Amino acid sequence: MKFCSKCGNKVIDEAVVCVSCGCSVTGVINQATQAKSSDAPNIGFAVIGFFFPLIGLILYLTLKEETPLKAKSAGNGALAGVIVSTVLSIIYAVVFASFFSAFFNFL
Ligand SMILES: [Zn+2]
Repeated sequence: MKFCSKCGNKVIDEAVVCVSCGCSVTGVINQATQAKSSDAPNIGFAVIGFFFPLIGLILYLTLKEETPLKAKSAGNGALAGVIVSTVLSIIYAVVFASFFSAFFNFL
């Protein structure tokens, strides 16, 4: 059982608004425990971060206060995505350079 922060009446834990005064009771009291219980490493966030590092970074920055474990998943995914794309672009540059030097040597 929690209490309405505005009028002080009892409100059931699942309630979103107070039945007495109608104000929002989306849990100053319950917020901390809810945030903690819903926080867990999330593979979906990691995958999003991997393919869209910028979105992963934004997710990390916006979620790190409330759900640090989810934020960390997005952050790690973004980091992995950045590393992989950097390595791929280096490989691509090396292949491209050797292709062109071979091409110009041929001429
Ligand atoms: Zn109330």
